[in-house]
Amino acid sequence: MKRPVAAALVIVGAEVEGRIVDVRIEAGRVVEVAAGSESRSAPAAGVEVFEAAGGALLPGLHDHHIHLLALAAAARSVPVGPTDVGGAEGFARALQEADAELEPSRWVRAVGYHESVAGPLDRHDLDAIVPGRPVRVQHRGGAMWVVNSPAAKAIGLSAEGLPSGAELAADGTPTGRLYGLDAWLGERIPHEPLDLKAVGRTLLDFGVTGVTDATPTERSEDLGLLAGAVAEGALPQEVVVTGGPGLDPEAGAALERGPVKLVVADHRLPDVDGLVTAIAGAHRAGRTVAVHCVTRVGLLLALAAWDETGARAGDRIEHGAVVHPAEAARITAHGLTVVTQPAFVAERGDDYLADVNPYDRPHLWRCASLLRAGIPVGGSTDAPFGPADPWQAIAAATTRRTPAGYVLGEDERLDPRRALDLFLGPPGSPGGSPRRIAVGISADLCLLAAPLNHALQALSADLVVATVRAGILTTPAGGRAS
Ligand SMILES: [Zn+2]
Repeated sequence: MKRPVAAALVIVGAEVEGRIVDVRIEAGRVVEVAAGSESRSAPAAGVEVFEAAGGALLPGLHDHHIHLLALAAAARSVPVGPTDVGGAEGFARALQEADAELEPSRWVRAVGYHESVAGPLDRHDLDAIVPGRPVRVQHRGGAMWVVNSPAAKAIGLSAEGLPSGAELAADGTPTGRLYGLDAWLGERIPHEPLDLKAVGRTLLDFGVTGVTDATPTERSEDLGLLAGAVAEGALPQEVVVTGGPGLDPEAGAALERGPVKLVVADHRLPDVDGLVTAIAGAHRAGRTVAVHCVTRVGLLLALAAWDETGARAGDRIEHGAVVHPAEAARITAHGLTVVTQPAFVAERGDDYLADVNPYDRPHLWRCASLLRAGIPVGGSTDAPFGPADPWQAIAAATTRRTPAGYVLGEDERLDPRRALDLFLGPPGSPGGSPRRIAVGISADLCLLAAPLNHALQALSADLVVATVRAGILTTPAGGRAS
């Protein structure tokens, strides 16, 4: 299946920057933005007309940090986060139900685990729940998997030839905890088909017309899957990919190439020299870098590396979950961008209040103060590690409310318009000037059910009544309008 060719489309009576206009789209581009006319002439044959009824027409949202393959895989995984299973009993029940339902050859894949569910997990804990088939459980941070004994056996996990990142117990046997070993695991686990089409459709329903896949993959097969899905139209979004420093630059030619993704892994902190080499290498190759920094130590290491290499315009910090004022000043001085995930405050805020060192707590997931410091801030979901709905992130950026109702970082709240802009920056420039609807732009648009001022009072994906990507209009629930 090839992506359908966009015919002419007119969105009539839409609110664009406070004016009611008709927006005409041809061959995937906006060709006319004209004041709405009372005495509108009948549309020419073959022109699709969509009545906006005064709803706000925005540029399509761009999620600046997402993991598409993991999001597709999450759809066939057992969610075992604190809100999914409650505690240890619910966790065991969820795994056992999956075990009972799956065909014999399949693995149980569970995601979203956090220690508040049933403590730190190891191989033996999982064996006690599901002894008879391979099980793997991903920590919600994304960097750690825990496997049970059948899984350990299937992937050849033994004290000999253990990859670095596989933990050993005091008695010299593997604990089943695997840190930063996604690629290694991926080569040893039976492949299951991923439904990227469902991912693309879900994102369209949210008004998302573009994404940046921030996976540090070095496997060209992974990019091949994404490139194939984009070429076939299964993933209708504009897709920018990062990829790790070892990724062949020619791989996945159908995709746009973003920064090189570098991970400052908190479970195995790199030395500054290694980071300097990686950043300088990317810069030499004409690329920017996107450096994953979650903890303060991680950020300090990354900044020390940038002190050596200098920053290139477009270099970015992913997450920046802990930014003390002294580091904010250094981020400003280097001209770096921060790509943040506001929804983590809404989803995990109470855990942060309970677990995070009080010294770091006032500096968690900063947003408004980074903007005040002159730092460009882009918005993202980090799905599947956070909810894929960007509207939840936008709403969370305005309230900073935790699930229990506390406000985490009152001074970090954004007004709703500013929060929306986190997702309207250009794909290649998160936090840059929000895109605007004008003649000549690619017709990547998001139409809301209400005028903007109303919509901003009730931020929700339910507001999205249509999404236009490259001139093709879809309405939520996957139905194509007209
Ligand atoms: Zn991520």
